Amino acid sequence: MAFESLSDRLQATMKKIRGRGKVSEADVKEMTREIRLALLEADVNFKVVKSFVKRVQERAVGQEVLKSLTPGQQVIKVVQEELTDLMGGEQTKLNLALKPPTVLLFVGLQGAGKTTSAAKLANYIRKTHNKKPMMIAADIYRPAAIKQLQTLGGQLNIPVFSLGDQISPVEIVRQGMEQAKADHHDLILIDTAGRLHIDEALMDELDQIKSVSHPDEIFLVVDAMTGQDAVNVATSFNERLDLTGVIMTKLDGDTRGGAALSIRSVTGTPIKFVGMGEKMDALEPFHPDRMASRILG
Ligand code: GDP
Repeated sequence: MAFESLSDRLQATMKKIRGRGKVSEADVKEMTREIRLALLEADVNFKVVKSFVKRVQERAVGQEVLKSLTPGQQVIKVVQEELTDLMGGEQTKLNLALKPPTVLLFVGLQGAGKTTSAAKLANYIRKTHNKKPMMIAADIYRPAAIKQLQTLGGQLNIPVFSLGDQISPVEIVRQGMEQAKADHHDLILIDTAGRLHIDEALMDELDQIKSVSHPDEIFLVVDAMTGQDAVNVATSFNERLDLTGVIMTKLDGDTRGGAALSIRSVTGTPIKFVGMGEKMDALEPFHPDRMASRILG
């Protein structure tokens, strides 16, 4: 299960302080030391850990705890709030175009879960917002990527626009946008190529696709299992493309949690959805407060 070890360690730490009628500075020091180690072990970015622990420490020895009738619980509330904040605070809503169609661009490295997430999200938004989606297959490099999107589209009964793999992705997107408008689709999802590594050619191509499609959301799809690599990937993509959100996949796996806890803080880009499995309904909006509650038990 995701976050299992982190969750166990933080819960053990919180348990020690929960019932306290008084919390001394030494207690806080001991607690924050344990939190720090637990976060580092969960592969959370060290700068993120440092500032997180500092904030918890300041608040836990502050007035809100001192004046509280139940200081132990108050300290736990502080940790919970800071953990929520770390992951973005409020849930970040999907940005839909005021004037349709809404265009969603999916970018990321190969194998992160782009194609799957595009199909899942098309299905999700169709249900929740009553939209008429169309997907554009612009990954011409990975063998079978187009076929994979077509298969998923077929299962979900969502049309997929493709021009094969002999035409430039930018041209595919240009023509796909025309087609979607002609067919009155109010939601367009563009699946782009992911490479094994970030390279200039990939970024240039994505930049051009961005210029011709004017996306309302640029989602970076990252695999939670890749830890701090996911955070580095997010930093690079964000510098070039100005991401609007992250979709973090494979949170159903046994990730330690480092990427999920660091990515917002390091890149400023919020996680908007999480992938919880391979099935088409295994996608959920991301709620930082619920995730923090889940971790702290
Ligand atoms: P792409 O190369 O980025 O388009 O990646 P794909 O969409 O082909 O996904 C790569 C693999 O990850 C596939 O086998 C997917 O079924 C799997 N996958 C995607 N999202 C999730 C998820 O949230 N959980 C799990 N367990 N597997 C996922």
